[in-house]
Amino acid sequence: MRRRWAIIAAVLVAALLVSVPLSAGDLIHLVINGSEMYPDVPPQLVGGRVLVPIRFISEAFGFQVHWDQAMQTAMVWSSGPMPPIPPGTPGAARLVVEGAEVKSDVPPQIVNGRLMVPIRVVSEAFGFQVSWLQGYRTATVAEQGALGLMEVHFIDVGQADSILVELPDGKTILIDGGDDAAVGTILAFLASQGVTQLDFVVATHPHADHIGGLDDVIAAVPLGAIILPDKSHTTQAYANLMAAIESRGVEPTWAQPETLLVEDGPIQIRVLGPMKTTYDDLNDCSVVLKVTYGETDLLFVGDAEAKAERDLIGSGQDLGAEVLKVGHHGSSSSSTPEFLAAVSPDYAVISVGAGNTYGHPASTTLSALASAGAKIYRTDAQGTISAIGTRTSVIFALSPWTGSVSGGTSTTPAPSPGGSSSVTVYITATGSKYHAAGCRYLSQSSIPISLDEAKARGYTACSVCNPPR
Ligand SMILES: [Zn+2]
Ligand SMILES: [Zn+2]
Repeated sequence: MRRRWAIIAAVLVAALLVSVPLSAGDLIHLVINGSEMYPDVPPQLVGGRVLVPIRFISEAFGFQVHWDQAMQTAMVWSSGPMPPIPPGTPGAARLVVEGAEVKSDVPPQIVNGRLMVPIRVVSEAFGFQVSWLQGYRTATVAEQGALGLMEVHFIDVGQADSILVELPDGKTILIDGGDDAAVGTILAFLASQGVTQLDFVVATHPHADHIGGLDDVIAAVPLGAIILPDKSHTTQAYANLMAAIESRGVEPTWAQPETLLVEDGPIQIRVLGPMKTTYDDLNDCSVVLKVTYGETDLLFVGDAEAKAERDLIGSGQDLGAEVLKVGHHGSSSSSTPEFLAAVSPDYAVISVGAGNTYGHPASTTLSALASAGAKIYRTDAQGTISAIGTRTSVIFALSPWTGSVSGGTSTTPAPSPGGSSSVTVYITATGSKYHAAGCRYLSQSSIPISLDEAKARGYTACSVCNPPR
């Protein structure tokens, strides 16, 4: 009996040792040359600096690494035999690259048996491009000239669609332009991203909640190409759009299914649909676009409904995607189980207006998405949804929507201003508690986060400072 308790105690201690520095809510992503990597000790935030495991980074770039225990020195060199270890008094851990000691304001430190060094030091010592993407809790390391990351923004334009994709080579795609009321929001968002040119604009179909604002966006921002279904419409919004395109002097590109529009190394843009433009419902004529970076696919389906989904499946094209822009604002007329099975999305984003009169998104759609294994994001509840696509993964800035899937729309209130989403609390790089500003536990590391987000990530209230709950 005593032996059994000893074993349980040992297991508990081991679990604590492992889990404390690696608590899930703290995970910092590491992207090397465009692909997400998973070192056994993930990057850490210490004293406002991002520390990365030097052995992992060195080996990823083909450098040799040796840890000298007696001298507490990590030796990193590019080729040949190890250079001599520079003399010094063993004390704090240090990093030597190509025979020369590299100094830093935050000293290297050992976490779980791994030497962690500030990412800035990696940049200076190796000549790599490094960056810290605060919003995505992501550190990136890349060789000079390597492609960056893809970024996608589902702009909150109410009961409408407008999505900006920034490709790793700097090119931009705008899919739909919201309704007339969205123009200011879209232009301000493009400006905030430093977008001054739209290389591709897609008008998925001629409904006003997709093209209503597009004429004014096109008038304000130069465009390279515009892709639209070969399906005209009798509305003023459509006439305005065609006039705006013409005054830019750009020839429309009529969407042809099964077309590889762009292929540039790991970047591809494909038009999958519409399979035809003779559908009764304009929604089914929506341009269906797939944007690929490496192994990561984003699928945009406009307002395509069941008929269009069935024909896409029938075409035999690869519909698989990590991220699905859910069809028709989450309406029950889209997202059939067969279609979701073919796409098999990890993440499903619904662009929808709070309190809309259509009852979007349908509770059946929410359940179907959850059953398909997709994490759900909604612009009505979460505002603009942004994510980065690495060659191998997708990292969202926000945690998924956590409302009730079965409860339907009326029981899912949007967060009210002044609610807990606007209350700021603080977390640390390695802890599992959230704190009020000034708590003594924040002396080493203090990361602002909304109360909602802290709770969603599994943080619990500190018992010392009594933060808001
Ligand atoms: Zn529509
Ligand atoms: Zn729509």
